[in-house]
Amino acid sequence: MPHHADVVIVGAGAAGLMAGIWAGHTKPNRRIIILDSAKKPGAKILVAGGGRCNVTHHKVSEVDYAGSSRNAIKKVLRRFNVNMTITFFRSLGVELKKEDTGKLFPVTDSSESVLHSLLRAADKANIQLIHPFKVQHITKKDDKFIITDGHDSFIAKSLVLATGGKSLPKSGSDGHGYLLAKSLGHTLSHHVFPALVPLTLPGTHFICSLSGITIPATIEVQSGSGKTLESFTDSTLFTHFGLSGPSVLNISRYYKAAKLNDPNTKLIINFLPGYTFELFHNYLLNNQKQRVSQLLKDKLPDRLTKALCEENQVFVSDQIDQIPKAKRKQLCRSITQYDLPVSGDRGFKYAEVTAGGIPLDQVHLNTMESRICPGLFLCGEILDVDGRIGGFNFQWAWSSGYITGISII
Ligand SMILES: Cc1cc2nc3c(=O)[nH]c(=O)nc-3n(C[C@H](O)[C@H](O)[C@H](O)COP(=O)(O)OP(=O)(O)OC[C@H]3O[C@@H](n4cnc5c(N)ncnc54)[C@H](O)[C@@H]3O)c2cc1C
Repeated sequence: MPHHADVVIVGAGAAGLMAGIWAGHTKPNRRIIILDSAKKPGAKILVAGGGRCNVTHHKVSEVDYAGSSRNAIKKVLRRFNVNMTITFFRSLGVELKKEDTGKLFPVTDSSESVLHSLLRAADKANIQLIHPFKVQHITKKDDKFIITDGHDSFIAKSLVLATGGKSLPKSGSDGHGYLLAKSLGHTLSHHVFPALVPLTLPGTHFICSLSGITIPATIEVQSGSGKTLESFTDSTLFTHFGLSGPSVLNISRYYKAAKLNDPNTKLIINFLPGYTFELFHNYLLNNQKQRVSQLLKDKLPDRLTKALCEENQVFVSDQIDQIPKAKRKQLCRSITQYDLPVSGDRGFKYAEVTAGGIPLDQVHLNTMESRICPGLFLCGEILDVDGRIGGFNFQWAWSSGYITGISII
């Protein structure tokens, strides 16, 4: 016999818990059930921010996001903004602190405190959390949803899909939620791909042999015609497989999206942010009697200088006026406009978020209810919205989860 509930929420991540807590507060005395496939729900909250959980950012706006239209994203974010997030967590006993980067973390510096506060609040709001329960199929009959894992079933008038995307599949977010949404009439964006993901280079590339080096760098996506489409300047990490660090994670989704449309898209790195090709070339010309190693000593790690010189058949000990003009220019280009031969990315296993999903034009933004399937609500990463590093993805989960929670009838 199926179990009856007023509301079933699939997914006990940030968005699902938020929706549940607010649904419980808004209209008590309903039977609200959250189902989650994971043995231990909330895995992403726990691993977030290196175990400290970057809950939000002190300044959040639609320009920090991509995917669906920014105007639509803005409408959702302004209903539950950063101040409301801070107040909400304070009411749960979690004080947030702002770091110099603008990121907000719990004062405890522990993700556990964030997850526990949400689970406690869900419990207080009389939400029943059932796990592990992997929803396999959902059907709609006579205005009711029948939700099943193949053995047990639930019948509910309202359904929330908060199943996340495909990033970090071992956490339980394996993309199955998309199939559930599709079975209820939704469609996905043209592309669904890993975002905030490290990028790979051919194994023989010199960057792979410089694993461990971290430098500030500017990385930009250039169209085939040379136009700058997006750019980030931040810490950049060289690894045995290629590149990682905030600049690379942030640019990855823009590079991939552009590449899907234009195979001639390039990813260009400037190892010396602040120096254009011309500025750096002039710097060399103004210091002709100096050696390459001396000029770059305080600007780049020695190992990187050496590798860049080798790429251009220049010796680090060469004096600038000994280097032929063409090679000197080539060296300047390598340092300030290096065309990275990206071979791919590390995939969903290592991605922090999913680009793509269910487009926002398929939901009513004032309620997050589906325009296609009445009674169904969608929130969090399952939607076609992804933010940059800094707490923006959680803020999306809090905002969209809140609207869902207060709107479920
Ligand atoms: C390593 C890492 C670090 C991150 N750090 C940060 C950070 O510091 N700040 C930030 O803002 N963002 C961060 N993010 C991104 C952020 O964690 C996500 O955007 C956010 O958790 C998405 O919340 P969600 O509730 O929509 O989905 P999820 O957190 O993915 O939750 C979805 C839940 O649904 C369940 N589920 C899925 N399918 C089914 C099914 N068929 N049946 C039952 N249950 C199902 C899953 O088990 C899961 O518990 C990080 C992500 C990763 C991977």
